[in-house]
Amino acid sequence: MDHSNTILLLLIVAFLAGGFLGLVIRKAMPKPDKAGASEEIFLLEQRLREVSQEFAKTSEELNRKREIAFHVPTIVRRLSSRLSPNAIPGVAVRIAKDFFQASHAGYFAPLSESDEFTMVEGVGFPQGWKHTIRISPKEGILGLALENRVVVTRDEYLSFKGNLPAGSSPIEKAGIAVDLVAPVVGMSGPLGAILVGGCKVRVNEERQYASMLADLLSIAYQTALSIESVERDAAVDGLTRVYNRRYFALWFENELRRAKNYSQPLSLLMLDIDHFKKVNDTFGHNAGDMVLRKLAETLRAHTRSSDIVARYGGEEFVVAMTSSNKDQAFTYAESLRKTIASLEVKVTGHEAPLKATITCGVATYPEDGENTTDLLRAADNALYEGKQEGRNRVVRAQLVGLDGKPLRRS
Ligand code: GH3
Ligand code: MG
Ligand code: MG
Repeated sequence: MDHSNTILLLLIVAFLAGGFLGLVIRKAMPKPDKAGASEEIFLLEQRLREVSQEFAKTSEELNRKREIAFHVPTIVRRLSSRLSPNAIPGVAVRIAKDFFQASHAGYFAPLSESDEFTMVEGVGFPQGWKHTIRISPKEGILGLALENRVVVTRDEYLSFKGNLPAGSSPIEKAGIAVDLVAPVVGMSGPLGAILVGGCKVRVNEERQYASMLADLLSIAYQTALSIESVERDAAVDGLTRVYNRRYFALWFENELRRAKNYSQPLSLLMLDIDHFKKVNDTFGHNAGDMVLRKLAETLRAHTRSSDIVARYGGEEFVVAMTSSNKDQAFTYAESLRKTIASLEVKVTGHEAPLKATITCGVATYPEDGENTTDLLRAADNALYEGKQEGRNRVVRAQLVGLDGKPLRRS
């Protein structure tokens, strides 16, 4: 065999070996399969759908978080500003409605005369519910939240419902689908509850914001009540609980301005207990205090809500009567004088009850003065005159001439 034949033979062997090897490799490799490919595509599409759903949810959550980040500082600012207790439910309802994107938002507060609750402010509730609907704090989702003093969502309520007493609250009867109730609890017990329904946001995931709102409302309430009580104390006399002289001066100035604007009379009674020193000297200072309290209570009980009673000094009181002329004020003062003269104050250690009389001066705007000082002086002069004339009487102010003699008895 010559050299070229050997090469040819080698080439043939190599060709055959290559073909064989190719066959073996192709056998070993997985064959491309049509069904397998479409299954793979299906799985990929499914995964893509899942990812895009997750993306949509995440971006929705992100948007909601942005909204919350915007809302929370506003809520905190609104509730930390100075609010009167009466304004708080309205603010609570507006905040809850906006925050939870609710179709129903209401503030329910305890009634003073019973243990039931009523709606003091609300949107989306039946007409006429405000201040009239009565809801037992033992019923429904409201009851569950109030009893446990925690936020209750609809899901939580439904899982509890089997254990609750039968019977549905007016809220359920009205077909209102409540999403969440957040009780507002103060030092002395429940101050109310916020209730939201028809919410566009996922309330289950946001109950912590409902708790935050309820806590802020509780703080706002307690601050408002403390301010109110401090202001009341600053305006009221500690012993008799009628207004003090400082508050009276502010009130009278204001009413005098109104009387001028509306061309209305305004009358002023200044009254003083007769021989009060003797009461203290005979029965003791405590008995004197009892008389002062009893007199103040009587004056208050006989005064219209448009009028005012104040302690002007030790045993001196003033009563101001809006839209009352001198005759009307005189008639009223006379009846007061008689009522007071018939009062009896029991004093421990004394058999006979204590009795007291008053002397009263009456002055009226406009005839006795155009300003507070002149009117007070006119009433005081009339009172002094009454004391001179023998006490236990009512005297009208009168104009005095330069010689000090009365010009006329008005
Ligand atoms: P008149 O009929 O002239 O008004 O005689 P009066 O004794 O009532 O008048 P006077 O001004 O001499 O005495 C007033 C007394 O009122 C003296 C004072 O001790 C007493 N008084 C003032 N404030 C209080 C108080 O808060 N409690 C008690 N118990 N007494 C008071
Ligand atoms: Mg006196
Ligand atoms: Mg006096």
